[in-house]
Amino acid sequence: MTRPYVLLVDDLPANLAALEALFQADNVALLKAGSGEEALELLLKHDVALALLDVQMPGMDGFELAELMRGTERTRNVPIIFLTAGSVDKNRRFRGYEAGAVDFIPKPIEGDVLRRKVHVFVDLHQERQEVAAERDDLADRAIALTHADDAKDQFLAVLAHELRNPVAALASGLDLLERPRTEDQAAQIRNQMRRMVTHLSRLVEDLLDVTRIKEGKVPLQITSVDMQDVVGLAVEGTRHAIDEAGHRLYVDVPRQPLTIRGDYSRLAQVIANLLSNAAKYTPQGGTIRLTLRQESHGIELRITDTGVGIPAEMQTRIFEKFVQVEGHGARAQGGVGIGLALVKKLVALHGGTIRVESLGEGRGSTFIVSLPQSA
Ligand code: ADP
Repeated sequence: MTRPYVLLVDDLPANLAALEALFQADNVALLKAGSGEEALELLLKHDVALALLDVQMPGMDGFELAELMRGTERTRNVPIIFLTAGSVDKNRRFRGYEAGAVDFIPKPIEGDVLRRKVHVFVDLHQERQEVAAERDDLADRAIALTHADDAKDQFLAVLAHELRNPVAALASGLDLLERPRTEDQAAQIRNQMRRMVTHLSRLVEDLLDVTRIKEGKVPLQITSVDMQDVVGLAVEGTRHAIDEAGHRLYVDVPRQPLTIRGDYSRLAQVIANLLSNAAKYTPQGGTIRLTLRQESHGIELRITDTGVGIPAEMQTRIFEKFVQVEGHGARAQGGVGIGLALVKKLVALHGGTIRVESLGEGRGSTFIVSLPQSA
């Protein structure tokens, strides 16, 4: 914490020097002024904890200076100790008395008495500042909570919307099955229903994973895994979506095995999620490339697409949960913005990092995952 300022105002340099000597050993920063005008200038520049004003000064005297201080918002509440020579002139009452703490110390000054008083005011000032800082902190936290609350509300709205479609499709599937059908027609309906159920289960599993990871409840089954195998499993799981969108997929992995310590199915989940996003956010007939490389620091996986791209300002935010790029909604295919949050957490659980590079709208995206080999 910075030392609080104490303003000393006296027209006699010897008095200022004596006051300065009195407070030298104390934890306060002294501001010295030889006149009321100088004092006002210093008060403009500094946030002062206390002012010691000599009453009898040529020109603007101590009372006049105090009145000006009380008339100004910035200095209205600065406590004042008047240093008075002899008895205070009863007729010259200081009019700003009620506006804040005021005290009188007669000259010649008793050093100990003055120091004790000064400390009372300085401590009060510090406490007030601490309270103000806590109040600001609480206000900031309240704003952050409101934002988080808004984000949750928005997420619930998106989620409800995304759940309604598959549930409605399942209900009408059941209706259709209850009517007379050929075996072929029934099989087709069942297939569609199965797809909806798979989609719903994935959504529910992802939601549960996000909570479980947050609570530290996703234990990794760490073994020695061959990344070529992991890529193979992820490609297998997403092949259908990639083909359906008419994309070409190029997979470039080294011939020699690339083994790392990690959780086989969680790593496959990471890659499958990135491949499925590449398929979703790339217009029909695009190109997706997956490369796996041994780097000096570990393994680097890149998944590049020729899709809609990601604006620069969203490139870190998309890894937060429930965040979707505006305008991508039509391509999300029932996603609710948790896939990348989950991917990032799973990568972090393996001691790795993930980032995205994109030149912006319509210029494609590259997701880069770096994994250490000994998680
Ligand atoms: P979801 O796809 O369910 O919305 P994600 O968490 O997987 O959620 O992705 C968050 C957002 O990041 C997406 O909504 C989309 O806007 C953007 N995004 C993810 N992958 C890509 C990609 N390959 N190309 C362009 N945008 C992407």
